[in-house]
Amino acid sequence: MTIKIFDSMARDVIPFETREEGKVAMYCCGPTVYNYIHIGNARTMLWFEFIRRYLDFRGYDVTYVMNYTDVDDKIIERAKIEKIPPEGITQKYTRAFEEDLAAMGAETPDIVSKATDHIGDMVAAIEGLVDKGIAYESDGNVWYSVEAFEGYGKLSGRTLEDMRAGERVEPMPGKRHPLDFSLWKTAKDGEPSWDSPWGPGRPGWHIECSVMSTKYLGMDFDVHGGGTDLIFPHHENEIAQAEGLLGGEFVRHWMHAGMVQMGTEKMSKSLGNVVLAHDAIETFGGPVLRYWALSGSYRSQVAFSESVIADSTAAYERWSTFLTSAQHSLGTDMPEAPDHPRRPIGEAVPKGPGAEFVIRFIESMDEDFNSAGSFAAVHDLVRDANRALEATHAGDAEARTRLIDLTSTFLELTNVLGFRFEVSAGASDALVAGLVEFLIEMREKARAEKAFERADAIRDKLTELGVVAEDTPSGTRWRIGAST
Ligand SMILES: [Zn+2]
Repeated sequence: MTIKIFDSMARDVIPFETREEGKVAMYCCGPTVYNYIHIGNARTMLWFEFIRRYLDFRGYDVTYVMNYTDVDDKIIERAKIEKIPPEGITQKYTRAFEEDLAAMGAETPDIVSKATDHIGDMVAAIEGLVDKGIAYESDGNVWYSVEAFEGYGKLSGRTLEDMRAGERVEPMPGKRHPLDFSLWKTAKDGEPSWDSPWGPGRPGWHIECSVMSTKYLGMDFDVHGGGTDLIFPHHENEIAQAEGLLGGEFVRHWMHAGMVQMGTEKMSKSLGNVVLAHDAIETFGGPVLRYWALSGSYRSQVAFSESVIADSTAAYERWSTFLTSAQHSLGTDMPEAPDHPRRPIGEAVPKGPGAEFVIRFIESMDEDFNSAGSFAAVHDLVRDANRALEATHAGDAEARTRLIDLTSTFLELTNVLGFRFEVSAGASDALVAGLVEFLIEMREKARAEKAFERADAIRDKLTELGVVAEDTPSGTRWRIGAST
């Protein structure tokens, strides 16, 4: 069994072949930290984090790198609006991004790299491109010459002529070809800038990703991800920069996540229908948003609407209700949630009531990360587990054994999906404590009324349930456990 993925460069579903056996080096374009991210960006980030988790589950040793774009025009504009320095903006929104992603159950990538920590690397790369005659300087700006790179357009599948017709690129003074893109921008007054051979300035956006990804992962790394909106020009430019400078192939597999639709419209700033992840988390909760983001194929366009979120909420609640019931029913036999479980490729899944669901989950995910099939497998597991739960309540010992296995499988698979259920231990503890105290109060009342028979009956019942009640001068104390 192998994993297959839809490779945007091949435009087809192809076998996932890594540079080094058993290892995956992956990179995903991170946020420009000038505002809260919208739910479309959040969905892309959640998906690549999930793919990372899944590859780990399948036995790969994964190194996942993500960048923060912390130097950009948008940051400078935002700093003027919020009347704080650009570093204040980037710090504020980097923290917000991290908190929001964590609220949606995402783990931090292995390497998180900031553009401003790599200016020297970028200057060196730009110098290299200038030396090779692929880039040129003009009035303190450095441009990449798209005509000097033969493969320009191979990811988006367009020729320079197509692009020229399709994108309304304004000719700019100093640019040789309208599609030439900026590698280094000369400093303007009051903007953050760094020294360079071309005078003070700052790097363009595209150069940061090719420089940081190859710095940490080398050339020919396994997966480069991002949203479909980044294919052109961002990823096209990354390829031109990395391959132009270093030669060879930049990336083995390109993966792109689909965009979010608001009703019938594409979500976009210009349409003013943008939903920020930060607000959505507050309204619907992180886990429900994670459910919404991951339960449909990463490649498809997904809708965000009240009814879609209501469906995700109901589905997620079905899972968490099942788990709470299992917890109540199984008590100390409740299996523990595994941490980063693994089912390496080629290893058979041991037989048991949960095995068929593990196999279905894996078969779906191995086919271009078809999460819809995997979520369906977990729902079918829950249906079977709920039946086992009913039979357990009716005293069926065999059903209880089945329930334990299914619950354990449920915890494993939902862990791979990145859900961590608060098994309502807190709530049920509070409930137990409230009921025990109420009974003790009743017993004390009975004793005060000299209704000793009733008082003893209450104490006997508590003892039977494993509650030890001890009368002390300051009142009755209780605990759960064996009597001493
Ligand atoms: Zn990027």
